[in-house]
Parts: sequence; structure tokens; C-alpha cells
Amino acid sequence: MAAARNAFDNGPWPHTPGYERARILHALHTILEERAFELAELESRDGAVPIRKTSYVDIPLGLHMLSCFAEMARASPYEPLHWNDFPSMSWNFVWREPVGVCAQIIPWNYAFCMAIWKIAPALATGNTVVFKPSSLAPLTSIALVRIIHESGLLPKGVLNLVNGPGAEAGEYLVNHPQVDKVAFTGSTEVGRKVMAAAAGTIKKVTLELGGKSASILLPDADLDLAIDGVLFGVFHHAGQLCESGTRCLVHRSIYDEVVRRLAERTAKLRIGDPMELETDVGPLISHAQREKVERYIAIGRQEGAKLIVGGSRPEGAQYEAGPYLQPTIFADVDNRSTIAQEEIFGPVLAVIPYNTTNEAVAMANDSPYGLAGAVWSRDLRAAIDVARRLRTGTVWINDHHILNPRAPFGGYKQSGIGREMGRAGLAEYTEPKHIHVDLGARRDERIWWDVVVPTEQ
Ligand code: NAD
Repeated sequence: MAAARNAFDNGPWPHTPGYERARILHALHTILEERAFELAELESRDGAVPIRKTSYVDIPLGLHMLSCFAEMARASPYEPLHWNDFPSMSWNFVWREPVGVCAQIIPWNYAFCMAIWKIAPALATGNTVVFKPSSLAPLTSIALVRIIHESGLLPKGVLNLVNGPGAEAGEYLVNHPQVDKVAFTGSTEVGRKVMAAAAGTIKKVTLELGGKSASILLPDADLDLAIDGVLFGVFHHAGQLCESGTRCLVHRSIYDEVVRRLAERTAKLRIGDPMELETDVGPLISHAQREKVERYIAIGRQEGAKLIVGGSRPEGAQYEAGPYLQPTIFADVDNRSTIAQEEIFGPVLAVIPYNTTNEAVAMANDSPYGLAGAVWSRDLRAAIDVARRLRTGTVWINDHHILNPRAPFGGYKQSGIGREMGRAGLAEYTEPKHIHVDLGARRDERIWWDVVVPTEQ
């Protein structure tokens, strides 16, 4: 903490010009790219993430994001405002400055990308960082920070990493009086605590929290695309993603066909060792997480939802060591039931029928969360109309999970506060300072009269 504070208050980084910060971030990108395979393997071993995902998605996406943030580092800190003529002529502008020392806390899922999303925009805008990964999957974060340190490209103290459990290391960072901003990604439950703790010293807070996103299939959806898309939406990384499409709202006219095809396709997914290229769905992050998901499956059964596929642990010696769980789908789910309202964070899909588009929109929005959603339709005008009515930070039309470094990502309602990525995300790491330059030459153009009465000319 002292290193980050000192680097911000006395070091060169906050005053380093954007083009130079951009050059350094691009150079780090080149160094990391050479280590991409090693990082993918580490991410798979640490987070039980299928190697196909880490090699083709997580590491390339994280690196792509880093190069985008490097470009964004060149954004001018100067934002012109209109000249003002009250009370006298003045030149006004905004100068964007770094916020200061940023404490950044991430969860165990998508760990490498998550680390890039936190660290790169903070550095791009001239902040210093104390970063804490999750104890459950810290290895790629440690490797990332180590590689950056070894490059010698950043001034000392600008980027720091601490490990440890949230209740100790995390709380310490959030409560620390020397921290100017907390950027937290994790559960809504812990996000609430972070927000309360940050209130002590009125820290800036951005929160990226849980979700219960809906995939809405309009009656004209291209089912060959939508069935696989919905399964990708929910079973990517075994459902352990905040923006997973865990509710699937299906128009009654196609409901029976969709339910049948979802079940058939799911039964064919290959559950297995994350290090095998053939694996579609790997194990969950921990045994405790599997037990939590199993409790929700039991609740789904008790509440009367119809289990159409999965629901238990896969059988076979190869599954005994890890917390494997079959991808699971419930049909005829009531949107007010527990499995449709609470975040499960595992491979469980709730399929819900609807009769009208208004009903689908109302159900999608009937959730404490508002992170993301998807609409599947051949009619783009109808799909955009639904997208605009969803109270969520992101909506995909005919896709899922696509995160764009130039687009803001974040949640409405209890899915969070603020945005990551895009211009909005970068702005969260700056303080906009208004500078007013008064050009009025005459004393009588000033409004100082209540304090200083003008003297006779
Ligand atoms: P979590 O909330 O348990 O932990 C997240 C991080 O917070 C970890 O590093 C943990 O050590 C730390 N932490 C725990 N208690 C803390 C405290 N009191 N003070 C400060 N830090 C503390 O979440 P998790 O189980 O690691 O991750 C899963 C959750 O993250 C899900 O709810 C998921 O939706 C959410 N998530 C959200 C996004 C998003 O962008 N919105 C992305 C990924 C994951």
C-alpha cells in the first residue's frame, strides 16, 4: 500500500504522457503474447477451465483487451467546454486526472481477463494499483504481475499484488485510508460489504456483481443457431460466469421443440478433464461450489420444475477426483421460483415458456439483477425493440458472452455500479477537473460585490 501511495504521490507515472503510457502497455502486450500458451495452460490448471476456452478465448481476449487499452491510453486528458460569458468571458475545459491508488479485487472466474480488465485501464489513465486475485485461482494474476515486473517497463510501486482471503486481505484494502478507489468484481453479497466499508472514507467504488441473465427466443428464432447459442450462453465455463444466460424464455409456439432439442444436445456434451482438447464442460471450481449448485438442483425439484437432463454427478472413475457435475436443464420453470431468481453460478438452465413479447420482457426484467441478456430472432427490428426494453447493461442479439473492449460492460440494479471497458470504463479511473480561466479584464465584470464593494474609479 505504501509503495502504491508513494509511486502515485511522488513518482512519474501519473504525469507520464499518454503516448508514453501507450508505448509501455503495447510493449507489455508483445512480451505477454510470447507467453500466451504458457498462460493458457496455467489458467486451465488453476481454474479448471477447459484448455480450448483458455487457448482460444481467455488469453487471446485478455491480450486483445490490453492492446485496446494501450490505444485508449493516448486519449487526450483535455476536454474543451464552450467559452462562457457569465459573468465575464472565460475559457473552460476539463482536465482528466488519475484517481490515485486503486485497490482492485477480482473473483476466480475468467481470472486472466479479469486481471487485464482491472489493471490495464487503471495504468492507461495513470493510476497506481494494489491488486488482489481470488485465493481459488490466483496463478495467472501472479504470473502476469511477475512478467510485468521483470520487464522493468513500469516505475517501481506502480503495480502491486497481494494474495490472501477476502475477509482479511480484501477487507484490509477496502478499508485502507490511503486507497482512493476500489474496483471490485465478485458476488453481490460481498459487493454490498465492499460498498459499506468504502463509505468510511468515501472512496470511489465500482462494482461488477452477479447476474441472472435471460436468453429470449422470439417465435421466429433460427433454432439451428439459437439452440447451440443458448447452450454456449449457459454452459461456457460450466455456467460460472456472471453474464451466463441462466434463464431461457421461449415462446409457446416453439417451446416443445426447443425443450426437446436443448435436452438432446446437452446430453451429447463431453464432460471431462479441462486439459483435454475434446472437453466441452470441465469440473466446477471447488467441491464447495458443486455442493452449492446441487442444493439449487434439489430446490428446483422441490419447487416442481421439470428436470429434463442432467441433475447429478457424472458416473465413472475419471470423474471421481474433481467436482464434476452434469450440465442440467429444468423446463416449465416459474420465473418467481428460487432457481429462476437466484444466481446459481453453475451449469443449470431454467427454461420458461411465455405467450407474448410483453410477458417475456416483464419476466426478463423481474429479477434483482440486470447484467446482460440475449435475444434470438431473425427480425432485427423486433430484436432491437426487445433489447431496448431490457433493464440490463449488455444485450446480445443472436449471440452471447461477446465482450468488446470498446463497449461499456456493467450492471443495472444489483448487478453493480459503474462500467468497465470502453470510454465509460476508462472514465471510472479518472477525476474530471474543471479549469476555469477568467479572461475578463475589467473589475466591474466580476461578481465579488457582496464581499468586496468596487472602489470608485
Ligand atoms: P466473491 O464475492 O466470493 O469473491 C470475490 C473477491 O472478493 C475474491 O477475491 C475474494 O477474496 C474477495 N472478498 C471476499 N470477501 C471480501 C470482503 N469482505 N472484502 C473485500 N474482498 C472480499 O466471488 P467469487 O465466488 O470469487 O466469484 C463469483 C461471483 O463473482 C459471482 O457472483 C459472479 O457473478 C461474480 N462475477 C461478476 C462479474 C461481473 O463482471 N459482473 C464477473 C465475474 C464474476
